[in-house]
Amino acid sequence: MAEMFIGGEWRRARSGATYPVVNPATEEVVDHAPLGGIEDVEEAVRVAKEAFPSWSKKDFEERGEFLRRGVEILKAHREEIVETLTREQGKPLHEAQGEFDHLLHGLTYYADLATKIRGSYQPLPSRFGPSYGLIIKRPIGVAAAIVPWNFPLTLMGTKIGPALVAGNTVVVKPASTTPLAAIKVVGYLNEAGLPPGVLNIVTGPGRTVGEALVSHPDVRRVAFTGETATGRRILELSVPHFKRVTLELGGSDPVIICPDADLDKAVRGVLIGRFWNAGQACLAAKRVYVFEEVYDTFLEKLLAGVARYEPGEGWVKAERPRIRIGPLHTAKQREEVQAQLQDALAKGGKLLYGGKVPEGRERGFFFLPTVVAEPAHDSRVVREETFGPLLPIWKVKDIDEAIRMANDSIYGLGSSIWTYNVKWIHKAAQEIEAGMTWVNQIHYGYDELPFGGVKQSGYGKEHGIEALDYYFETKSVVVGDLE
Ligand code: NAD
Repeated sequence: MAEMFIGGEWRRARSGATYPVVNPATEEVVDHAPLGGIEDVEEAVRVAKEAFPSWSKKDFEERGEFLRRGVEILKAHREEIVETLTREQGKPLHEAQGEFDHLLHGLTYYADLATKIRGSYQPLPSRFGPSYGLIIKRPIGVAAAIVPWNFPLTLMGTKIGPALVAGNTVVVKPASTTPLAAIKVVGYLNEAGLPPGVLNIVTGPGRTVGEALVSHPDVRRVAFTGETATGRRILELSVPHFKRVTLELGGSDPVIICPDADLDKAVRGVLIGRFWNAGQACLAAKRVYVFEEVYDTFLEKLLAGVARYEPGEGWVKAERPRIRIGPLHTAKQREEVQAQLQDALAKGGKLLYGGKVPEGRERGFFFLPTVVAEPAHDSRVVREETFGPLLPIWKVKDIDEAIRMANDSIYGLGSSIWTYNVKWIHKAAQEIEAGMTWVNQIHYGYDELPFGGVKQSGYGKEHGIEALDYYFETKSVVVGDLE
C-alpha cells in the first residue's frame, strides 16, 4: 500500500482509511492509497510551516543543489516510476517516459535558475536626504500544489521546482486517481536530503483534502491545475485570505491550416496534438480549421494517420506502423466524450472515423480516435472542452473567418497556425485570443516559456523565469541617511 510523505516520514491517513487506485486499461486495482482527511492536511501544513523559516534562509545555491541531487535519484528510478504512471493513468509507456523526462528537464531548469534570481535598485529623489530604493524578493511561505490526473508528474514539477528554489515549503495534493507515481517522486526527491517538512504529499479527494488545503490560513500560495469549474471554486476559497493563486485551467485550442502549409507536418502536428495522452491534454489541438483549397488533401492524410492508432494497454508495444493509444482515464471521462460526440452528430456533424468503443475492448475505458466534420459552431465540442480523442474539423474561406471561429470560445489557452505567410503569422500572433500560439509547431508546454491561458483558461503563469515571480513577495526597501 502506498503512503503519504509528511514531515520527513511515510504515513498512513490518520483515519486509517484507504481507497483503490484503478488501472484504466483493465479496471483492476493497481494499489491502494491513503484516504487522507482534514487532520492529515492540518499536519502537513503544520510541518511545512515549521520547516519554512530555515528553508527560506538557506543559500539559493544549496536549494538548487537539493533539486539537482533529487533529479539524479529520480533518474535511477525511471523505470519504476514510468511503469507506475502507465498503470495508474493509462498512457502508453513511451508517453509516460516522455512525461518523466519532461519532469526532470523542468526540475533541472529551476535548479539552474536558483542562482539567477535578482531584485533591483532604484535611485530616489533626495526629498528627505539622499537615499536609494531596493526591490527585494521574499519567499511566501507554505505553497499548496494541486495537480490533475492527466500529467501527474510534469504538472507537479512545474509547481514544486519554482516553489522550492524560491525558498517556500510545499504540500502536494495529487489527483485522487493518480497518486502513486507522484508519491514515489516526492519520496525520491526527499532522499536528496531535504529537511523534514519542506516537501510533503497528502492524498485524498479534492472536495475534502483539496478544499482543506486551499482554505487553510497558513497556506499562503496556491498553485492549481485542473478544470475551470474547480479553479473557480479554488479562487472563491482563497479570496477571504487574499492568497497568491495561479490557476491553469481547461482549453479548447484551435488549429488553423493555411493553403501554403506543409500538410504532412501539419497532419503530424494535429495527430500528436489531439491524440497524445488519448486526447486528455489541456493544450491539445481541440478544433481544426482548414482553408478550403487544401481541405480534401488534409483530410485524406489526416484520416490515414488516425487509422494507425491502435487502442491497447500502455505497457504493450504496438507493432509498427501502428501507434499505441491508451484508454481514457475513467469511465466518466469516456461517457462525457461520447455525449459530446452525439451532440456534434445531432448538430449536423459527419462522422469520418471512430466514434465507438474498439472491438474486443469491453474492459478498460477505451474509445477509438474519432474525427467529425462540420458540426454546428454552437455544439458542445465548441462550447466545452473535449477531453478525449475527439477531433472536430471545419472548412474555412480565409484567415479572417479562421481567426473569428478560433476565437469563438470561452477558452484561451493555446492555438496554432500552419503557414509560411508572414502576414498570417503576424495576424495569428496578434489576434488569436490565447496564452500561446505555436507556428508550424506541435502544441507543447516548454519549461523555458511562460505558459498559461487567457479568458477562462487561466489566471497567472507557470513555466519560465516568470513562474518564480508567483513564489515571491516583493518588498520595497528605502535606504536613507547615507551621508
Ligand atoms: P479537476 O479540476 O477535477 O482536479 C484537479 C485537482 O484538483 C485534483 O487534484 C482534484 O482532486 C483537485 N480538486 C477537485 N476539486 C477540488 C476542490 N473543490 N478544492 C480543491 N481541490 C480540488 O481536474 P482534472 O479532471 O484532474 O484535470 C483535467 C483538467 O485539467 C482539464 O480541464 C484540463 O484542461 C485541465 N488542465 C489544465 C492545464 C493547464 O496548464 N492549463 C494542464 C493540464 C490540465
